[in-house]
Amino acid sequence: MAVFDTQIQAWSEQAQQMIGSAIQAVDHIVDANQWKVIEAFQKYRVSDYHFAGSTGYAYNDRGREVLESVYAEVFGSEAALVRPHFASGTHTIATAMFGILRPGDELLYITGRPYDTLHKVIGKPGDGTGSLADFGITYQEAALDELGQVDWDTVQSLVHNKTKMIGIQRSRGYDWRASFTIEEIADMVVQIRKICPQAVIFVDNCYGEFTETREPTDVGVDLMAGSLIKNPGGGLAETGGYICGKQKYVDLAAYRLTAPGIGGEVGAMLGTTRSIYQGLYMAPTIVGQAVKGSIYAAAMFELAGFNSKPAWQEKRTDLIQAVSFKDEHQLIAFVQGIQRAAAVDSHVVPEPWDMPGYDHPVIMAAGTFIQGGSLELSADAPIRAPYIGYMQGGLTFSHVKLGVLMALQTMHERGLL
Ligand SMILES: *Cc1c(COP(=O)(O)O)cnc(C)c1O
Repeated sequence: MAVFDTQIQAWSEQAQQMIGSAIQAVDHIVDANQWKVIEAFQKYRVSDYHFAGSTGYAYNDRGREVLESVYAEVFGSEAALVRPHFASGTHTIATAMFGILRPGDELLYITGRPYDTLHKVIGKPGDGTGSLADFGITYQEAALDELGQVDWDTVQSLVHNKTKMIGIQRSRGYDWRASFTIEEIADMVVQIRKICPQAVIFVDNCYGEFTETREPTDVGVDLMAGSLIKNPGGGLAETGGYICGKQKYVDLAAYRLTAPGIGGEVGAMLGTTRSIYQGLYMAPTIVGQAVKGSIYAAAMFELAGFNSKPAWQEKRTDLIQAVSFKDEHQLIAFVQGIQRAAAVDSHVVPEPWDMPGYDHPVIMAAGTFIQGGSLELSADAPIRAPYIGYMQGGLTFSHVKLGVLMALQTMHERGLL
């Protein structure tokens, strides 16, 4: 069994004492979400035969249709598109955007700079890549204010009659800011309806699913999207994404994913249906394991003298735990330590690289069963000041503890603690 420095072990004891009630609070959320998911399965009478895969055009794939009804029910929305054909979260979000926006329309993000991989989706006029800008769809963003909240004066000054979609990113992503809770998103919806009633309100829900008992579509958001290799895939879905929301917008996204006139009526599920169902069934509980892991991580890094965001006792609305390090050596040791704790590829040492879609070299620890699956314990960091490491996921709480202990141990062995 792994042996850790005595100081690190002492922190671990102390952390577990400290976080007891926060861990219990997570169990209440897990129960509510787990029961909600089971009730949705029951309502739509999910049966063994729904798990069969389909081939070819896959017209009338009952398993796929019921899966989408179950997703819509769980997320409090009219309709859902849940498909293995979405190659990633970025592809899913881009499909939602291209489905709704037309040349001359404007996309306005009100939560500051969106997630790195979306920058090239937004693009620049004439970039020749088929980005939004390349199709004549303009873009603006309102930076968050100094308290990390939406700057409504700026938003007000940026909206105009071409503002067709207003984007909200729930999770912090690679940013040292708070993530937005469902309550905050509910308030944003009320504000947006006043300032810009024609806008389609879109939420990038990546990493948020099942961390609270409600989702953005429960509080009036028109459309949201996420990745199945994050929270709602429960660690079992092998690929894919989902889009949920008002029927007419989900239909438009489906026309973009396949073809106008065909939409969601086609799309062979091949062998993926059962794992997507079973992943959704597991998701509330697995997300709970990961959230508990994040709380423990926050407590441990705080005890070790680092700043954690969120702090261990803060309310959570996503899986991401950010930790602020002093330099790139600590940052790299942290990521490499998480990798050392993996069940898969623990012998691999991650190094910074220029990853497609990101503006800076990124280092990633990902010893996962699903490649890039970040409901599984993973850590990443763009190598740039102010040296913030991000960790997320963990299919079991116990594994996250091991990861945090290994990260601190690796820093200790390199004389960086
Ligand atoms: C992960 C993520 C994305 C993009 O998902 P990929 O699957 O990496 O393409 C978009 N937005 C947020 C906030 C994310 O966390």
